[in-house]
Amino acid sequence: MPEIHAARGAERTAKSWGAEAAKRMLMNNLDPEVAEHPEDLVVYGGTGRAARSWEAYDAIVRTLDELEPDETLLVQSGKPVGVFRTHEWAPRVLIANSNLVGDWATWPEFRRLEALGLTMYGQMTAGSWIYIGTQGILQGTYETFAAVARSLERESLAGTLTLTAGAGGMGGAQPLAVTMNDGVVLIVDVDETRLARRVEHGYLDEYTADLDAAVARVLAAKDAGEALSVGVVGNAAEVFPELLRRGVPIDIVTDQTSAHDPLAYLPIGISVEHWKAEAERDPEEFTRRSRTSMAQHVAAMVGFQDAGAAVFDYGNSIRREAELGGFERAFEFPGFVPAYIRPQFEEGRGPFRWVALSGDPEDIYKTDRAIAELFPEDAALHRWLQQAGDKVHFEGLPARICWLGYQERHLAGLKFNEMVASGELKAPIVIGRDHLDSGSVASPYRETEAMKDGSDAIADWPLLNALLNTASGASWVSLHHGGGVGIGRSIHAGQVCVADGTALAAERLERVLTNDPGTGVMRHVDAGYEHARDIARERGLKVPML
Ligand code: NAD
Repeated sequence: MPEIHAARGAERTAKSWGAEAAKRMLMNNLDPEVAEHPEDLVVYGGTGRAARSWEAYDAIVRTLDELEPDETLLVQSGKPVGVFRTHEWAPRVLIANSNLVGDWATWPEFRRLEALGLTMYGQMTAGSWIYIGTQGILQGTYETFAAVARSLERESLAGTLTLTAGAGGMGGAQPLAVTMNDGVVLIVDVDETRLARRVEHGYLDEYTADLDAAVARVLAAKDAGEALSVGVVGNAAEVFPELLRRGVPIDIVTDQTSAHDPLAYLPIGISVEHWKAEAERDPEEFTRRSRTSMAQHVAAMVGFQDAGAAVFDYGNSIRREAELGGFERAFEFPGFVPAYIRPQFEEGRGPFRWVALSGDPEDIYKTDRAIAELFPEDAALHRWLQQAGDKVHFEGLPARICWLGYQERHLAGLKFNEMVASGELKAPIVIGRDHLDSGSVASPYRETEAMKDGSDAIADWPLLNALLNTASGASWVSLHHGGGVGIGRSIHAGQVCVADGTALAAERLERVLTNDPGTGVMRHVDAGYEHARDIARERGLKVPML
């Protein structure tokens, strides 16, 4: 398979910018600089794919080039299945990935159907074509670690040591997020190539296969109060218990291995080289072994908590897998959303992101300045934009992320559209977000864990979010199952819009970027959160029964 790179610049081959943008973003997801395993169509998050097969990929690209500006392409789990006449305001693409009827929503059934070529795992932004590389999670991880510091009554993480695992597409943001907060971090990964990639892209300072050397390095940095990230090659299910046994003074513990999918977590006793073959040979036995290892891994995390460390689950379902592996105390530490993030969700704040179709980094730097000018009072946002500008190495098309809320995102969208119209930016801007957002997901082990009214597993909300974004004029809308926590555990929706400088784009952007975060405020108002109610009243959100 030849390497895939999206076209750059203001010339398009598709008949609308909506279709052109979808095509470029699909291709960008599979750019070798962006995707973790592009040869298998895997973008990130274990087996999160951009298209079901190479034939399906070619057919999507061809169809997007032929699509009329008043037509809509339907994509069913990574395969283009129909084109319908709609209208110019309608999305150019509607995507449904990995959805299964409740009683059938198990990994074995999903894998059976996947093997028959009938479905694929879409993760969150892999199958919805708005993954932007490791930066996509960086600010959320940075904010989470900043909140951890505050919860420890510290101004920053200086002088603390964090232990984590998983240096993949998303997990690879952790070392940079900790050092941006001035802390020291030790990150464990079984696959040396993942650690090497993070060093190459500036997300990790150094790595070694020697645990003693790694521990000595991080302890020296902790004592000196210097920021440092060190990777160590090893299996977290062995390394975490060993560090606990040695009594290494670790202050914060989390994990971001691909625990949501037991076949994407390497059990003790299997080598990286034999991983794929062993998982394929006997998935049931592999699952049993990986859950047993996760039980040991999580038992060590609880051990660190017993010893006084701040411990949290970072959104990969490892507590539930460890529980299934026989460890009864798995849920003794919290998930990161109830522990640190929910107040942001109450304001409709979440990971807003944009991509420059020109391919020119200068376009992103101009949008950075525009955002800083739009929100002059937001000191944390300014600090973030400064750090991101200095430290983020672009992967694929230049992109930026920052957390914005209800009645904020549309201001950014309209500003970018004006900048495209005036020629200040060289080509249109794609604007989207993660499915991990305030109103777009039902996920009882993550975004909706411990909701105030007990509505954790109610999945009407992401469905309403997807329907509303479609009605509001997004360029593409996606509705997925599984995502970051695995089959049977979440339902979530995404939207992407394109600022192409036209008056029609301005109308669509205004509605989508107001309504989409508005559903987040609505969801939290309905669940009884006071701060969400205040936001709704102050910012004029109409909630009939408030
Ligand atoms: P990935 O598949 O790209 O990377 C996972 C990494 O874990 C790989 O590098 C792999 O080698 C490593 N690994 C697997 N088993 C291991 C073990 N036993 N010991 C040490 N390392 C091991 O996945 P990703 O995109 O980095 O996502 C990681 C997890 O985080 C997934 O479960 C994903 O669904 C979840 N996620 C969370 C959030 C969030 O906001 N918190 C967002 C996106 C994804």
